[in-house]
Amino acid sequence: MIILSLIMGEYSFPQVDKYVAARNNMVKFQITDRDIKDDATLKAMRKVPRHLFVSKEFENDAYGDYPMPIGYGQTISQPYIVAYMTEVVKPNEKKKVLEIGTGSGYQAAVLAEIVDTVYTIEIVPELAIESASRFKKLGYNNIIGKSGDGYNGWPEHAPFDIIIVTAAADEIPEPLINQLSEDGRLVIPVGEQGAIQELILLVKKNGKIEKKHLTFVRFVPFKRSKNK
Ligand code: SAH
Repeated sequence: MIILSLIMGEYSFPQVDKYVAARNNMVKFQITDRDIKDDATLKAMRKVPRHLFVSKEFENDAYGDYPMPIGYGQTISQPYIVAYMTEVVKPNEKKKVLEIGTGSGYQAAVLAEIVDTVYTIEIVPELAIESASRFKKLGYNNIIGKSGDGYNGWPEHAPFDIIIVTAAADEIPEPLINQLSEDGRLVIPVGEQGAIQELILLVKKNGKIEKKHLTFVRFVPFKRSKNK
């Protein structure tokens, strides 16, 4: 019985599956070697089973250094970009997060390992349904998702300490800036589809917005629902 409970304990944390080594290598060679230092971010990236966020046929490729298709013309971001965006918003156990662009749910899960609650909005209903069932299966009770156009944020749960947008918009949606709390951090790729986009960080300080260019990225486009 003691042995059994020890084994069970090990199975519940850390995540034990056949991809443990792949995940550790991913974190070492793609993430720490490229200067991501935040412990909580690294721990979360080592734990979340990325292979369960892509379709079964691509499972073996899930820990590669690239984005991958998740259906409906959308992609799960490259692991490094997920880690970079996670570190830059300074997550901790007290924070309330809004994510626009749930996609596979991977970025939401990485944040959910660290923060108090993640609210996440996905415009493609099928992806919202698939990610919700993933969160349930993997026990992410602190992720609350819905399907819809995230342009207007989620006023009922605002303000948010962190807002993370994972689709490239032509400009930063004003409602999201308004739903950022004091000292809140918002990260968003801005630019046209196909072109190189800028990853931008906004920080709200004394009610004013400070804007910082971070790097260049390539994301799928931020869409608007037609009935807006
Ligand atoms: N964070 C995701 C990456 C998703 S790709 C992951 O970890 O897998 C970007 C996602 O944003 C796509 O699923 C796309 O459908 C969604 N999206 C695009 N425009 C949106 C909008 N206005 N509101 C909500 N989701 C949007």
